[in-house]
Amino acid sequence: MLLSPILDSPRAMNPYFDPEKSHHRKDGFQNNYNEFATKSLADVMQWRINAVRKNLPPPPAAPIPQHKADLDFLHRNSQAKTAMQPAVTWIGHATVLAQVGGLTLLTDPIFSERASPFARLGPKRHQPPGVAVGALPHVDLVLASHNHYDHLDEKSVVALNAQAAGPPLFVVPLGLKPWLADRGITHAIELDWWQSHRVSVATGDVEVMLVPAQHWSARGLNDRMNTLWGGFAVFAPDCHLFYAGDTGYSRDFTDMRERFASRQIAALGGGFDIALLPIGAYEPRWFMSSQHVNVQEAVKIHHDLGAKRSMGVHWGTFELTDEALDEPPRSLAAERQAKALSDDTFFVLAIGETRLIQPRAPG
Ligand code: ZN
Ligand code: ZN
Repeated sequence: MLLSPILDSPRAMNPYFDPEKSHHRKDGFQNNYNEFATKSLADVMQWRINAVRKNLPPPPAAPIPQHKADLDFLHRNSQAKTAMQPAVTWIGHATVLAQVGGLTLLTDPIFSERASPFARLGPKRHQPPGVAVGALPHVDLVLASHNHYDHLDEKSVVALNAQAAGPPLFVVPLGLKPWLADRGITHAIELDWWQSHRVSVATGDVEVMLVPAQHWSARGLNDRMNTLWGGFAVFAPDCHLFYAGDTGYSRDFTDMRERFASRQIAALGGGFDIALLPIGAYEPRWFMSSQHVNVQEAVKIHHDLGAKRSMGVHWGTFELTDEALDEPPRSLAAERQAKALSDDTFFVLAIGETRLIQPRAPG
């Protein structure tokens, strides 16, 4: 997954190409501010040789906190509809079960043993999912941010599509609908950046918007940048939720705050009630900074967005990079102290733990 950008080969035409859009290319997609550059084989070798020499990542100093999920609450809350309490539950890595606006949604579901196309190769799960896929409440929406293996897991999406009361709606960036269709998943919507899909719920419409991220895509050896990547903004009457997907630091988050300013004024309840931001997979910086933020940059995104509170995800589950699996929350605690942020303004959960989010109210 991390090596594929070094392999260059002739690329297919982009069937979605729109010359009016600056992130569209004839052969794929690009970032708004930092053109994604292919890593040289020498760079990849330098990273890997150094990691092996220094025995990186170091083992975690302590086990990743785990919490027995409150399945009874999650199931009751999913059926509560108009009485739903906004809540987020960490399943592991970037997979979050969010309950907002009468809907139960999952971000980037991965329940598998490996984030890899291979059964016996590739990053292995260090903790079981906080809720097993078969124990989930009914999932209404799946938000998939991009096609990397730790975010779009074939077994998990196929299992969710077969859930008892009918498939969830899969919301994906441009180019991923055919991949889903090849796996029998047809209840799906494809979005470009800034495009929305509205879901009608008894409590009022919930708007799901794909937003830019500073990242890239590839699943195989010759599909680099062919499908789009992004994050999601979910605007529900009781909660504005943001999910960044995978991203490096860029001006995109300031752009979002400006774009959403009129719907997030204090009189309408203010900024995002909860932002799910990646805080892991950042070392070494010389290699990773163009695609993954570190903790300091995640805190900058929290401020750029004007989020009321943020939760750190994309850590503690798969060893993808050179920092220890348990380093991100330690680094976050230091950054909170340095920036005088309270513990619950930018928090992490134990795997399986649920946090209630105060419902949005006009200020
Ligand atoms: Zn990624
Ligand atoms: Zn990732």
